[in-house]
Amino acid sequence: MNFDLTPEQKKIRDAILAFAAESLENDGVADRDRGSVFSRELWKRAAGAGLAALTVPVEYGGRAYDAETTTVAMEAFGHGCEDGGFVFAMGAHLFAAVVPIQAFGTADQKARWLPPLADGTLVGAHAMSEPGAGSDVAGIATRADRDGDGYLLNGVKTLATNCTEADLLLVSAVTAPEGNPQARLSSFLVEITTPGVAVTQRFETLGHRTTPLGEVTLTNVRVPATALLSGKEGGGIAFFNHAMMWERVGLFAAHVGTMERMLQRTIAFARSRKQGGRPIASHQAVAHKIADMKVRLEAARLLVYKAASQLDRSRLAAFDASIAKLFTSEAFVASALDAVQILGGAGYIQGRHPAERELRDALGTTLYSGTSEIQRTIIAAWLGL
Ligand SMILES: Cc1cc2nc3c(=O)[nH]c(=O)nc-3n(C[C@H](O)[C@H](O)[C@H](O)COP(=O)(O)OP(=O)(O)OC[C@H]3O[C@@H](n4cnc5c(N)ncnc54)[C@H](O)[C@@H]3O)c2cc1C
Repeated sequence: MNFDLTPEQKKIRDAILAFAAESLENDGVADRDRGSVFSRELWKRAAGAGLAALTVPVEYGGRAYDAETTTVAMEAFGHGCEDGGFVFAMGAHLFAAVVPIQAFGTADQKARWLPPLADGTLVGAHAMSEPGAGSDVAGIATRADRDGDGYLLNGVKTLATNCTEADLLLVSAVTAPEGNPQARLSSFLVEITTPGVAVTQRFETLGHRTTPLGEVTLTNVRVPATALLSGKEGGGIAFFNHAMMWERVGLFAAHVGTMERMLQRTIAFARSRKQGGRPIASHQAVAHKIADMKVRLEAARLLVYKAASQLDRSRLAAFDASIAKLFTSEAFVASALDAVQILGGAGYIQGRHPAERELRDALGTTLYSGTSEIQRTIIAAWLGL
């Protein structure tokens, strides 16, 4: 077992860290967070550095990284870019919208959609969740009824990351209401400008406030048969599971990067903040919290890289991805709480220290990509329970 990065991976990591620090306007993140501002200009810039296309084949304008190298890149992105909502938006675009098209799209779908999604011209969103179906994806009610040579889509999609800025939605809808639950859903590539598609809400959120998150209503949206991902009905659940497997690795690698930045800042603060004439770091109660942050970081990183390695070797990494996602998200919340506790009052004041924003950002991670409870259910099922 060799835990070292290759020279090429080190170059990729260092380039993304430098790019994020220099070009992604970290100094404006507190204002963007307060105003819930998503920047299309930053999106174009980040895509220009390859971040929207890490996994995409070279012929479509991508970097064609394997899962491990994608993980290295995402960890560096999450470390170097302080705008957690922006990193999340890009990760959702890449893993939940681009990856399924890359993996399951027809030749025409890949040729049409991957280049503009990869170069930052378009923003993608994956619209699975509905007001009545979150954890229970089998309960999706949006319908896609045959209509001549195409389909008519009707339903409401909620909590879809990027949807208020998106150009392309990957919509899951029921095509076989009475069929086998695994084959009930299909996925459709729906342009946001299609008549009948309406962004009905942009949510104000606790964390990741710069992510455009909202609700989309589909009313008699007519799409041609060519909009059906893969060209076949019944693949919706499989496409969703594939996207989640990648997201639970790639996006959570970015959270590992953020946890490392948080740890470094917490150490610096604990060394410089003095009470009673001595640095607070010299109190064992404080130092132990920092030690726990380090242990969580290292364990999360190992789990994420193990899942990535599994993804590269077998493509059947759902079990490892759920373990990595569950642990990393809960570790991120626990470490963000420790960071704020160590900062004292400074950790509670908005805009005073990034840990306050990072704690709010961390809280969403145990919900999206499947809640912690659902990850435990998946893990238990793999154990035969
Ligand atoms: C920031 C953010 C971004 C998101 N982005 C997207 C996106 O891009 N696309 C998309 O389609 N969705 C997205 N979602 C939606 C997300 O997938 C759902 O919020 C999540 O699956 C939970 O669904 P719910 O919110 O309806 O909660 P519910 O499913 O109603 O769950 C409520 C509570 O009950 C628990 N629960 C529910 N069912 C079970 C069960 N069977 N066993 C044990 N406990 C259970 C849950 O764990 C949770 O604690 C996003 C959510 C958030 C917060």
